[in-house]
This record gives sequence, C-alpha cells and structure tokens, in this order.
Amino acid sequence: MKTSSFLIASLVALSSLGAVGCSSPVEAAADDGSISGDAEALTMSWPTVRLGDSNQDVTTVQYLLKGRGITVSLDGAYGTATETAVKNFQRSRGLAVDGIVGASTWAALLQTLSSGSRGGAVEAVQYLLKNRYSQALSVSGTFDSATGAKTTSFQQSRCLTTDGVVGSLTWNALIGRTTNCGGGGTAGASGSSSSAPAAAGPASRLLAAHRAGTITLWNQTFGRWDGADPLSNMTDAVAGRAAKRSCYGTAPCGSVYVQSGLLNGVAALRERYGYRFFVTTIAGGSHASGSYHYAGRAFDVDEVNGTRINGNSSVATSFMNACRALGAVEVFGPSNDPAGHWDHLHCAW
Ligand SMILES: [Zn+2]
Repeated sequence: MKTSSFLIASLVALSSLGAVGCSSPVEAAADDGSISGDAEALTMSWPTVRLGDSNQDVTTVQYLLKGRGITVSLDGAYGTATETAVKNFQRSRGLAVDGIVGASTWAALLQTLSSGSRGGAVEAVQYLLKNRYSQALSVSGTFDSATGAKTTSFQQSRCLTTDGVVGSLTWNALIGRTTNCGGGGTAGASGSSSSAPAAAGPASRLLAAHRAGTITLWNQTFGRWDGADPLSNMTDAVAGRAAKRSCYGTAPCGSVYVQSGLLNGVAALRERYGYRFFVTTIAGGSHASGSYHYAGRAFDVDEVNGTRINGNSSVATSFMNACRALGAVEVFGPSNDPAGHWDHLHCAW
C-alpha cells in the first residue's frame, strides 16, 4: 500500500516534467506527488516556521511554495506576504489556516523528487544541500545527475537507503537534520518505515564501545587539538554532522560525512570479530593526496587487542583479513606496505 502510493507519487513527479516554467495552479492533494498521504511524515519532527522568522527553513518554505505555483520572494524572511501565501496554501489543502508551517503543512508542501523532477521543490533540495550541507551544487530547479549524486551521498551520510529519491525520510533529514546513523536504527526506503524498535546505528554503538573501553577513539590528532580526531569525528557522525578534516600537512581542511560503509565495517570489527582496537585517525590527520580518509571512508588503528602494531604479526594479519572479509576496498599494514604502514593498519570502505 505504502509502496504503491510512493510509486504513484514518483510517476506523478516524473510526469510533471513538462509543466515547469508555467506557474502551475495548486493541484489536488492526491495527484501532485505530495507526501502528505504518507502518515509517517506527520509523525516526524519538523521545525516550526512562522511570522517573524528569518532563516534557512523560511527559504525552504518559500521554494516549496514556489513548487506549488505560489510566488513569494525567496528572501528567507517570513513576512506577511509569506504568511498570507502559507494561509492560502493551507486553505486550499483543507488544513488549519494559522499561517504557521508545522508537520501537516510541511507534509503537504513537500513533493517526492527523483531524477528528472523540476521546479521549486527541487530548488529547495539544492538550496539545502548547497547552503546547509556545503555541497557544491547550483540551485537550478532541475533534478539532474549532479543533484542525484549529491542526494545519494547525503543519504549515505545519514544511513538512509541510497536510492537518490527524495521522499519523506530524506526530506526530514534535510530539513529536520535527522540522521539514521546515531540512534535511528535500520534505514528504510525513502517512504518506508519500520515499526519495530530498531537497534542503535553504528556510529552511536561505536561511541558506546569507546565509553565502555572496548575500543578507543583517540581524542587528538597526533598531538593536535583540531577537532578532527576520531572521537570528535564519531561524535559528529552520531549527531548527523559532517566530520572535520585536519588543516596541516597535505590535509585538505574542511569537513566530510563519515560514510556508513566505514561505520558498519568498524562496528563489525568490534561486534562480530570481537576486536579491541585503538583508532588513531578517521577523517583527520595528514595522508597521501586523495586518501580515503579525506572522503570519510578510511580509519587507522595502531593497537589491536592490546598489542601495538610494530611490524608483521598474526594479530595484524588477522585484523587485515577481517577488514577484507567485511568488504573493505583498501587494506594496508606491515605485510603489504612495510614502508608506509609498518606501525599501523588502514582499512577503507
Ligand atoms: Zn590510513
């Protein structure tokens, strides 16, 4: 039932391709790709936006109104013109006419978007990815391949299904800054939900393991206190924030999302293989140019099960084999790279 309504929503979004450029009138709720039919969106947490507000959420509302054929200035200021537009929209949808954007109004404003979608709602996604999440993307109003790639990358960073479709979960992550990596549990599809209580996400399990002392996430970057250390990186991942990279040596500075493939791999090394280990770097530190560390995909350890890595050893070899068995795409250690990895192990996903 839910799946079919999302299929229909996606088809409608695709079929509205030709209508962009004209300012289309507000259509009936069931036929315009609105996610308002998805009860799940109503149960999610959304920011409340109202008269007097001035922030990115306001700009997002203004783009979404534009996506509904309602023209307001895209100035990020919730003045009386925006309030009147919201009231008119609410009236047209049979919602309470209070001029305040809460869960039911968000759900009615949002549209399911995918490759080929166009219009104000696409601009809203591009605006958020660019301005809130620092992605290099232009606000073109066309859901092109670049938008799809940034959407998929964002979904991966939030441990959501990486389908490139902006449904209620992805909208909620973009607008409500929610993440499925920390305490959120198993990721559903953009429109699906799991009613069963889910386990905590890999990032928060790893942070819990650090607090329990079974692993150590170093709280410094080789003597630097730059916020790019593994403990800070993991704390940011749990909060759904991008993790800092270092700014010394060949490090590129800036930030990157710790990727779910890495989080799942590291969590499995602890939980499935039972390894205790000391993590020296994730996104921070200075590495070779183009290193997977800078992409939030690699981590280094210099101690496993209480043994410092110092040349080849059985524990080093078995840990590296575990990384490979867990699907790591890059594994280095004393056995295969004695020049660069004599004293630590490196696995990337
Ligand atoms: Zn490394």
